[in-house]
Amino acid sequence: MINITQDIERLLLVSLKSYKPVLWINKKLSEISDTNEHPSLSYEDIIEAEERLKRFAPLLRRLFPETLEQSGIIESRLANLDNFKEEFLKELHANFHGRLFLKCDNELPVAGSIKARGGIYEVLKYAEELAFQSKRLSIGDNYEVLMDESFKEFFGRYTLAVGSTGNLGLSIGIMGAALGFNVNVHMSADAKEWKKILLKGKGVNVFEYSSDYSKAVEEGRKKSDADPFSYFIDDENSKTLFLGYSTAALRLKKQLEQEGIIVDEQHPLFVYIPCGVGGAPGGICFGLKKVFGSYVHCFFVEPTHSPCMLLGMASGLHEGICVQDIGLDNKTEADGLAVGRPSGFVGKMMEGLLSGVYTVEDNQMFKLLATLRDSEGIIVEPSATPGLLGAAKISLTDEGREYLRANGLEGYMKASTHIAWATGGSFVPEEMMESFYKRGKGIKESISI
Ligand SMILES: *Cc1c(COP(=O)(O)O)cnc(C)c1O
Repeated sequence: MINITQDIERLLLVSLKSYKPVLWINKKLSEISDTNEHPSLSYEDIIEAEERLKRFAPLLRRLFPETLEQSGIIESRLANLDNFKEEFLKELHANFHGRLFLKCDNELPVAGSIKARGGIYEVLKYAEELAFQSKRLSIGDNYEVLMDESFKEFFGRYTLAVGSTGNLGLSIGIMGAALGFNVNVHMSADAKEWKKILLKGKGVNVFEYSSDYSKAVEEGRKKSDADPFSYFIDDENSKTLFLGYSTAALRLKKQLEQEGIIVDEQHPLFVYIPCGVGGAPGGICFGLKKVFGSYVHCFFVEPTHSPCMLLGMASGLHEGICVQDIGLDNKTEADGLAVGRPSGFVGKMMEGLLSGVYTVEDNQMFKLLATLRDSEGIIVEPSATPGLLGAAKISLTDEGREYLRANGLEGYMKASTHIAWATGGSFVPEEMMESFYKRGKGIKESISI
């Protein structure tokens, strides 16, 4: 039996157990001196992933005309949130310094969520490997040839499999089916019905489970391992997914430059990314630390009912602990974040990179969703909202202030930039979005941090 109280501070544990929002600061970040060294992955790996995505861009442009404008590169805009900030501060009756932006992965083409980064990248990498090995394709070719019927027939001999709370299944299913693969998506109970219907319409096989994400992954892996022509996309351990996400950092660097935003010692950058199993926020954080080093401060955000990464990192037990072990139910409307056990691969990787993790109540997510729509006209799903609380968390809570003080950042907050990462939304059916919005408008309690 795990003695959790020995490993994580008692006060933190009491708050977590009673579903109270917390901000946990990662003490190991300051203990591990060189954040630029990691034994298994490097900056060159990110560049390699970016190069691969460029090779596929001509194909994606043809397969998905919505990517035409960006020449087949799947990327989202960086939106200024001045109006949201004003509205938010009014509701909060407080003030914090720094500019606020939204990274609009809710609008990412092809898959409508952050999973369009990692999921699609892994499908493409696997397709390229198969095509290279069979000598049907070489690196200098125009990848548009992959649209030929002969390739569809070739990829049709192989199966892709994945376990998902919904969005990863969507991205793998849409990309895999477009290339001609058989795709088996194993959906947890949290997965929304419309996602299953959309996938079935593309000929994807959807397997449904009445249990949570970890079980869907386990069953999916088992079934895939039994078939030599099946490739399992392992959300909990995949370095490929992780690197697909990490390329976001290179793109964000360019966008910040275009906005004239400086990131250096006197102009710190804070990034707040919603976390499920950890692959997406982990990959992005890894990329950002490679690009901006100690000038970027990355925080993950989780629902108060599913703080799996916080629990794994704070206890040091990583995938050896799940939220159910401390009596939590892992029930949240933020379906993209409804994960009870974190990725150990990501958690260990984040020990020397991540600044901290905070948790947010579901009601607050709905409120943020409504405020964002009213003030900016930007529509996101509940999972995509909690990063919006980050700037306030850091500036206005005791734990946040202590972090700023310990890192010598207090004097630079006026020149700081805060990015909330919006992770999904544009594929959500309108009537469902409407009900999310109504729920947000109906919540009487005020915004709190
Ligand atoms: C998957 C997902 C996340 C988190 O990504 P992980 O890799 O599971 O940590 C956040 N928001 C949305 C909308 C997602 O679909």
